[in-house]
Amino acid sequence: MANILVYALHYEGAINKNSLGAVSEGAKLAAQLGGEAHAILVGQGVPQDLAASLGAYGAKKVLVAEGPEGLAQPVVDAMGKAIADGGYKYAIFGGGLLGFEIGAGLAARLGAGVAMEVTAVRAEGGELIAERPILGDSAISEIKYRSEVGIVIGRLNAFDIAQNGSGEAAVEQLSFELSPHASQATMVTRGEQRGADVDIEGADILVAGGRGLGKAEGFELCEQLAGAFGGNAAVAATRAVVDAGWYPYAAQIGQTGKTVAPKLYLAAGISGAIQHKVGMQASENIVAINKDSNAPIFEFSDLGIVGDLNKILPKLTEAVKAKKAS
Ligand SMILES: Cc1cc2nc3c(=O)[nH]c(=O)nc-3n(C[C@H](O)[C@H](O)[C@H](O)COP(=O)(O)OP(=O)(O)OC[C@H]3O[C@@H](n4cnc5c(N)ncnc54)[C@H](O)[C@@H]3O)c2cc1C
Repeated sequence: MANILVYALHYEGAINKNSLGAVSEGAKLAAQLGGEAHAILVGQGVPQDLAASLGAYGAKKVLVAEGPEGLAQPVVDAMGKAIADGGYKYAIFGGGLLGFEIGAGLAARLGAGVAMEVTAVRAEGGELIAERPILGDSAISEIKYRSEVGIVIGRLNAFDIAQNGSGEAAVEQLSFELSPHASQATMVTRGEQRGADVDIEGADILVAGGRGLGKAEGFELCEQLAGAFGGNAAVAATRAVVDAGWYPYAAQIGQTGKTVAPKLYLAAGISGAIQHKVGMQASENIVAINKDSNAPIFEFSDLGIVGDLNKILPKLTEAVKAKKAS
């Protein structure tokens, strides 16, 4: 029998949807291991009913710890205490940058094995085995834990949300001490990332950016071009850049993002991986800019431009502006 502890991130009275997926996955796996899934919420004045609502996703018990929410180190302290007290065998996170940070801190604290970017987990012989894509997602590695505690950090959206639980979870307060370094950082502000409110699925023109943009600021080139088109144009992104934190998940196109079919899909610095293609292949016109003439995206583009996007995008923006002004 092994119990699983799942971290549940919450913001403005709602549980993060990746966390709901992680709780659902934890409940499924715990049942296969003959144990229970418990969730942990950290925050100031966490509402009792919010905590209890995780019962619907399969959590049997929810630990509520009073402390700053949204910062990694206080959660590491709280989860470290919960695991020491409760003897949990596994901890699961739904993914996202905060999950990575907490999971890594917890692994260091407990001397635990950690698997990141996990896309699937299964129970076998009373243990969990995590699957993680490697080598540019061309192969899958399987991870078994040798440590006393195993930490699983999912990829964003890797775990499906399932309301298979029965009723409300029991809620328990967890008292823990903040380590000195955990109180050094304070939350200044929390808010939406740029682009998060854009209606990608309804846009007629999408200017999509990939890793070829080089850095987060590279997206300004895409935003300028979308701005020049005006009207119903928006900026989209690949998973690689969303995972790197360059652009919000709301703009991700593909297997684990959105499926779109605009009149024009302009792909800049995007290789054209199958997981991206499935989200945009129905676009009426696909134009790709890539410096590698062998990039797979050219195989399904209507127009391919081989060259450096840093030179081409600004020129294209000027040309669109000039055309609009004439
Ligand atoms: C289970 C699973 C689900 C996934 N889901 C998604 C998904 O939903 N969406 C998604 O997008 N991906 C998804 N992926 C990831 C996918 O496999 C690719 O890793 C990803 O799409 C690659 O993103 P990219 O094209 O931005 O980066 P890369 O593959 O690194 O390509 C960058 C491209 O930019 C070009 N380039 C570099 N510099 C320049 C320049 N200066 N000018 C012009 N071109 C340049 C390069 O030649 C290259 O072709 C998933 C993977 C897995 C395993």
